[in-house]
Amino acid sequence: MPRTDHLLALPEVTAAAQRLSAPTVRDLARAAQDRARRGEILPEEVPAALREALTHRRATALTPVLNATGVVVHTNLGRAPLSAAATEALIAAAGYVDVELDLDTGVRSRRGRATRAAVLAACPAAEDALVVNNGAAALVLATTALAAGREVVVSRGELIEIGAGFRLPDLIASTGARLREVGTTNRTHLTDYTCAVGPETGCLLKVHPSNFRVHGFTAEATLAELRTLADEHRLPLVADLGSGLLAPDPALPDEPDAASALAAGADLVVASGDKLLGGPQAGLLLGRAEVIEHLARHPLARAVRADKLALAALEATLVAGRVPVVEFLHADPEVLRSRVERLAAAVDGGAQVAVVPHQGRVGGGGGPGVPLPGWALRLPECAARALRLGDPAVLARVHDGACLLDLRCVPETEDEQVAAAVRRALHPALSPLEHP
Ligand SMILES: *Cc1c(COP(=O)(O)O)cnc(C)c1O
Repeated sequence: MPRTDHLLALPEVTAAAQRLSAPTVRDLARAAQDRARRGEILPEEVPAALREALTHRRATALTPVLNATGVVVHTNLGRAPLSAAATEALIAAAGYVDVELDLDTGVRSRRGRATRAAVLAACPAAEDALVVNNGAAALVLATTALAAGREVVVSRGELIEIGAGFRLPDLIASTGARLREVGTTNRTHLTDYTCAVGPETGCLLKVHPSNFRVHGFTAEATLAELRTLADEHRLPLVADLGSGLLAPDPALPDEPDAASALAAGADLVVASGDKLLGGPQAGLLLGRAEVIEHLARHPLARAVRADKLALAALEATLVAGRVPVVEFLHADPEVLRSRVERLAAAVDGGAQVAVVPHQGRVGGGGGPGVPLPGWALRLPECAARALRLGDPAVLARVHDGACLLDLRCVPETEDEQVAAAVRRALHPALSPLEHP
C-alpha cells in the first residue's frame, strides 16, 4: 500500500492541496487507500485513483448544474448564469483590486466608480446610479431614506410576494415606514393616490407585479399620471421594476424597463442585477442625482453595499452587452429543434424517447405567462433523478409523468455532455467504459 506521506508528496497532489486544502487532500488519499484495502482497486492503482478523485473535487460544495428545464431565470439554480466576461471579471477581482483607490493619484476614490460608469452608459436616462447588494436591499434603502416614520403610498394591486421571503408589505413595514394602501386588487385610479397624499407622505411607490398577471376588469395609474401628483406635492416617485431590463425588449412587451420608467417621470428606479439584466446578484438604484446622493449618504447604504466581486461582474456584464439570459430568451425555436433531434439520435433511447414541442419560461425574472416556444426530449419520468444525481448534474423538467429536457438554457457546447448523461440515465447497467 502506498504510504500516505508518499501520496501527499506527489507533485499533482501538492498542487491540488493549494487549491483544496491539505486536510481535504489527506482525506481523499485515505479514501483511495481504503478502496485498495477493500479490494476495489490494486495498491499500485492508488495514486491514479487519488489523481482522479482530485480532479473531480471542487473547492465548493456547490455543484454546477446544466439547466435543461427551459426556465431562463431559475431562482433555485442561482438566477442568471454569468457571461464569460463577467466570470473573468470575478477572477480578476478576487485578489487585491483598486475598488476604492485611484492608482493615478494614489488616493482613495469613490467605491465602484467603473461599475457606476458602466450602469450610466447602459442607461443614459439616469442622472446617477448606486449599486447595492440586491433588489430587496435597494427597496429597503429607498423607502428608509425617503419615508421612514412617514407613509409609502402604494396600490393594493401591487402588494406582491415574489417568493424566498420577499413580501413587499412586510419589507416596507420593517423599514419604519408606514404602508398607505390605496385602490383595490384589480383597480386603482389616480384619485385613490390623490386622496391618500398629505403631510405624512414620504414617497409614492409603483411596483411591477413581476410574477403574475391580473386579467379582466383592471385599471392602474401610470407613472406619468403619478408624476403630476408627485410634482404637486413635491414628493419622490419610486418605481420598483424588479426585472432589471434597462431598455425595452420586444420579446417581453409587458415588461417595464428603466429607460421608459425614468422617461415617464420616476425619480428613482429599483431593479435587480441577476434577473433579465443577466448579471450577478445586485440591486440597481437609478435616477435623479439628488435622490441617489441622498440614498448614498444614508447610514443604511453602508450595510447594503455591493461587494467587489459583484461590482466587477456587473460592470463586465454591462460592457459585454449580450449575456446568456438574453441569448436563451431569444433562442431560435428551429435551432432548438435541431439540437433536440440531434440529442434524440445520440442517446440510443428507442421508443423511450421522443422529441416534443415545449414552452420555456422566463422564470423568476419576470414575463409571467410569456411563452417561449421550443422543443424538448421526452424521457421516462424516472430518468430525472439519475440525471440530477449524475456528473455533470442535469436538471430536467418533470411534468405530466414525463422527464422533459429543454436545451434552451444549455450552452450548445454542452450538448454532448447532456447526451452522455441521458445515455447513462437510460442504461445504468452499462459500465462507464461502454458509455462513449
Ligand atoms: C425580484 C424583485 C425584487 C427583489 O429583488 P432581489 O434582487 O430578488 O432582491 C423586488 N421587487 C420586484 C418587483 C421584483 O420582481
